[in-house]
Amino acid sequence: MIAIPWSSEVDVVIAGAGGAGLEAAIEAALAGASVLVFEKQARLLESSTAISVGRISFACTEIQKQNGIEDSNDLMIRDIMETGHYKNDPELVQAYAANQLDTFRQLTNLGVRWSPTVSALAGMSVPRGHLTDPIDLIRILKRAVDVQKVPVLFQTPVTELITDQNGSVIGVSVLERSGLTSRVRARNGVVLASGGFARDAQRLTIIDARFSKVVATSGAGHHGDGLRMALGLGASTRDIEFVQPSFELHANGVTSDDILILYYQGGIIVNTLGKRFVNESISYKDIARVCLDQPRMMGFQIFDQTVFEKAVVAQQAAGQGSPMTLDAVKIRMLLSATTLSELEDKADIPSGALQQSIDRYNHFVTSGIDVDFGRQSLAGKYGSPQRIEKPPFYAFATIGHLLATYGGIAVDKEMQVLRNGSPIPGLYAAGEAIGGFHGASYHSGTAIGKALVFGRLAGGNAALHKH
Ligand SMILES: Cc1cc2nc3c(=O)[nH]c(=O)nc-3n(C[C@H](O)[C@H](O)[C@H](O)COP(=O)(O)OP(=O)(O)OC[C@H]3O[C@@H](n4cnc5c(N)ncnc54)[C@H](O)[C@@H]3O)c2cc1C
Repeated sequence: MIAIPWSSEVDVVIAGAGGAGLEAAIEAALAGASVLVFEKQARLLESSTAISVGRISFACTEIQKQNGIEDSNDLMIRDIMETGHYKNDPELVQAYAANQLDTFRQLTNLGVRWSPTVSALAGMSVPRGHLTDPIDLIRILKRAVDVQKVPVLFQTPVTELITDQNGSVIGVSVLERSGLTSRVRARNGVVLASGGFARDAQRLTIIDARFSKVVATSGAGHHGDGLRMALGLGASTRDIEFVQPSFELHANGVTSDDILILYYQGGIIVNTLGKRFVNESISYKDIARVCLDQPRMMGFQIFDQTVFEKAVVAQQAAGQGSPMTLDAVKIRMLLSATTLSELEDKADIPSGALQQSIDRYNHFVTSGIDVDFGRQSLAGKYGSPQRIEKPPFYAFATIGHLLATYGGIAVDKEMQVLRNGSPIPGLYAAGEAIGGFHGASYHSGTAIGKALVFGRLAGGNAALHKH
């Protein structure tokens, strides 16, 4: 047999330097492993984690307690499972709940700073969206990786997984900046932390042809490389059929600066004909799915001055930007008018249609029963709907965007990649590369959450499991 020419050898190889990959590197190094991280992009700040809004779901934190919010792991598990329509893998949801508070504390100890308030968003029974500056977060994680003396090689994508005669993963091929391919041996394991596939147009079109018209806003490297490599070894997948855009991006927008979610603060959503088409308290992923069937695949968030003022107060309390708030960028994108008929005119909604929808909605709020869509709360199970009646009135033209793909490689609770129900020895995955955690829909703040929490698990386990 010809020996494979390895160009270098470490215990753990990690593909991707986003939230999951950096957390995996820290944990693997702390467990005593030698680690090498490969990153496809040229810069640290091109990952989804870095360009995200930075809102993360944690339960039972000191910040929740300071805000008088009572939460529990059990409540969080129930919320995530319910939001995912019970299609989630309960073992992954339990693993998240069991490790999330420790991850929150690890991040805080590393120097991550949090907004003093927490927000209630999709799927939550109580506010548990903890906001941080995602660029600070990723820089702090990279600093911790540097402290462990783990090299991160940029512009060096992992292109292939290398297996031995038993099918165990024993290394990777990488494309070096020089254009040469080299082979790196991973004595203990390889962690795929390479994000999702929001920029893999071919795979998305197979799932739903309409996705070719949906804007992708994820990290630039999200071409589904990890998924492709794992599938090449026969790995199973979970939840890919549930990929959906998220309803929150301004119709002309491209980045997270253009995101607004004020229907969770009391706004409603109408289509371009001025008609409501959905229960606004459900997950923005479910709202986006319904919106794909609306004219121009677009809707308007409609709200009044009461909601506007609430959002400004939330912004001041949070101390930084958030989808719940109205900063200068978002205010510039708003249509506003002192009467609903003027707003109809500005938004090009048929005359009288918006007035009719709001009259009907206000009647539902007063009577306590939304006979059209069954809205009973503001977000998830939290808050009470309120009448829309105080001028001026506002409209924010909104579309769905693919910011994350949520489904992907099947893993067990140790983050080992599964093939027909059994782990592929030596192969781990974490973050957006995996499926099974979210189920059919999405509980806010758990995409970054699962990257960080499961990244740590994957790195720690890969370090310990020698072949
Ligand atoms: C605009 C926006 C806002 C968002 N807001 C939120 C939010 O507020 N809360 C929330 O929970 N989620 C949010 N998300 C989703 C969330 O940010 C991601 O799902 C999560 O951060 C993914 O983490 P990750 O580590 O898996 O991927 P990333 O952080 O993207 O890291 C993956 C890295 O792998 C690299 N890579 C890819 N292929 C290879 C390869 N072959 N070899 C080496 N490297 C490779 C990529 O370049 C990338 O740097 C948002 C996403 C976007 C785009």
